[in-house]
Amino acid sequence: MRSLALAPILLLVLTACGGEDAVTPPLAPSGALPPPTAAPVAAGAPGISLEAAGISAAEMDVKADPCQDFYQFACGTLVDKSEIPADRTSWGPVAQLQVRNEEFLRATLDRARDKAGDDPAAKKIGAWYGACMNEDALEKSGAKPLQPLLDGIDKIKDVKGLYAEVAALHKHAIFPFFEVSSQQDFKDATLVIAALDQSGLGLPNRDYYLDDDAHTKEIRTFYQGYVERLFGLLGARGDVAKKAAEDVLRIETALAKISQDKVARRDPYKIYNKIDRKGLAAASKGFPWDDYWKTLGFPEVKDISVNSVPYFTALDALLKAEKPEAFRNYLTSVTVRSQASRLSSAFVKERFAMKQKLTGQKELEPRWRRCVSSTDDALGELLGQEYVKQKFDADSKREAKALVEGIRGAMKTELGGLPWMDASTRTAAVDKLTRMNDKIGYPDHWRSYDFEVGADYAANALAADAFDLARTLKKVGKPVDRGEWQMSPPTVNAYYDPSLNEMVFPAGILQAPFFDKRFTPAVNYGSTGAVMGHELTHGFDDEGSQFDGSGNLRNWWSDATGKLFKEQTKCVIDQYSAYEAVPGVHVNGELTAGENIADIGGLALAYSAYRNVRKGAKDPITSGGYTEDQLFFLAYGQSWCSKIRPEVLEMMAKTNPHSPPRFRVDGVVADVPAFAQAFSCKASTPMRPAKACGVW
Ligand SMILES: [Zn+2]
Repeated sequence: MRSLALAPILLLVLTACGGEDAVTPPLAPSGALPPPTAAPVAAGAPGISLEAAGISAAEMDVKADPCQDFYQFACGTLVDKSEIPADRTSWGPVAQLQVRNEEFLRATLDRARDKAGDDPAAKKIGAWYGACMNEDALEKSGAKPLQPLLDGIDKIKDVKGLYAEVAALHKHAIFPFFEVSSQQDFKDATLVIAALDQSGLGLPNRDYYLDDDAHTKEIRTFYQGYVERLFGLLGARGDVAKKAAEDVLRIETALAKISQDKVARRDPYKIYNKIDRKGLAAASKGFPWDDYWKTLGFPEVKDISVNSVPYFTALDALLKAEKPEAFRNYLTSVTVRSQASRLSSAFVKERFAMKQKLTGQKELEPRWRRCVSSTDDALGELLGQEYVKQKFDADSKREAKALVEGIRGAMKTELGGLPWMDASTRTAAVDKLTRMNDKIGYPDHWRSYDFEVGADYAANALAADAFDLARTLKKVGKPVDRGEWQMSPPTVNAYYDPSLNEMVFPAGILQAPFFDKRFTPAVNYGSTGAVMGHELTHGFDDEGSQFDGSGNLRNWWSDATGKLFKEQTKCVIDQYSAYEAVPGVHVNGELTAGENIADIGGLALAYSAYRNVRKGAKDPITSGGYTEDQLFFLAYGQSWCSKIRPEVLEMMAKTNPHSPPRFRVDGVVADVPAFAQAFSCKASTPMRPAKACGVW
């Protein structure tokens, strides 16, 4: 479980779906791409083939003008001609790599389930996967695994009973009203404190309860029906289920109203409020906090950060405003919703219908994919060990390390020459860069999972969640462990954590087509170099720049330089606010500012790092008629090729701090002048605008 108050800044989030039980990306059959076509070869230049260089000719649309719409040029055939597999929400190189990784993990898990031998790690992941795959057993037990929890909820007769039951559910990592976790103290990066955060909504965020446009209303109505159907599956009579769903919507809407919005959630000063036990008791007078910590098994907790004091004060009033029956319905709903994917097919089917409404995904992922993903979530560092052995050798690690160092060097040069930065800020920035840690591939030490895995899947899942929560809370009051990872090794993603001032690149993303030690340098830098530049730049985006080299939330900017930084940020906000994610829905420039700054800075850094390694090279490596510089940008563009369902694009625009892939390419190359040079774009073409933004 990751710290709640400030999520690590990810590289990509395409399928976030909200709710307690994040919907994991499904997989797709291979062969959904059109067969490769001949690349448009400019006259002359011999060089190596595009495929050998690491570029996919089949994804390109060479009839498009790269200076008008580079995304279309790099990805047009994939976007226009490929079909998104029915059990996916998007398709492109990221999804294809996920397919390969998951197929590998499936084979590993099949072996572990069928012949684990004496290896305890194999036994554990095999048992988890085996229980998850046992559909007969799941059908037989229906909702029975939840019965003890539901019985507890049914006993609520008054507000005192409600308080006790909230604590009991939290112990199982089921979070009505708010979530509990631990986090690094924003202002003392050496220490872990407890964290309480808003939670308990079943739709992706507060806007889904409060917006009044027709589509949002439609989703809300569907959601109410979903809750009603879940109550029906638990055996409630029609009118009772209907009334229960009304209660749930009313309570969740009240929670939405007091919740922070998505832009506030990116401001570390707005989500960090360190109060001690007394402060919490004063903010929320009715809630029996001493009993709460005791029930969780951590009566000694002292320092706590809440995302917002007014939230907890308002929640206190809300907890007295409804009848016990309404609260029983709400708690039941949160419990069933959070566990639905672990129950029999009737629950799974309803849950998928809700996901389908939000994402447009046509079919439920096959069982094995859901079970691979659940094993990775619950036992990621056991499952990841075999992946690392087979898929990430010492050479790859060395090459990736050299790439990071190249990017770091480019940032150092950049900081040295920035005209808008004064000397004192520059010194602090260089210090932050020097102290930024990087992790590549997999952890130095594998973590342990000290909970029992038996034949009952839902029970296993509850045990894993409870163990993970207890493990998280055990850290409170102790020094920070800097060796931990927040992603499993096979994950196709990366992150920067501002409290740790570190960037992390799992083995899962350091694979073709993003990275291969055999690819030409222009391609590795354009793709993985830009990913590394992106994560490094997060340390200096509008959010990350508020933390210093030690990971403390502290203003190290002079007033004058800080003002210029804000002006540059404003330019990026305005640029992206003008883009439309889907017709009628604009990209939220403020919400996506950090990611866009990281994209622009990341590509600029990768470009200078790549020019550095190729400086003085005798022969440029051309391919398919493209120059080295063109290959660099093609690799960048293609790393984002993605066909995405319109429902997902709309949901991303409403919830996600990342811009849609098209703008992660076109918006970015327009701000990196080397692109216009490489493709000889005329002045005032879209990819060479009169005014370019960019902070780094
Ligand atoms: Zn990012």
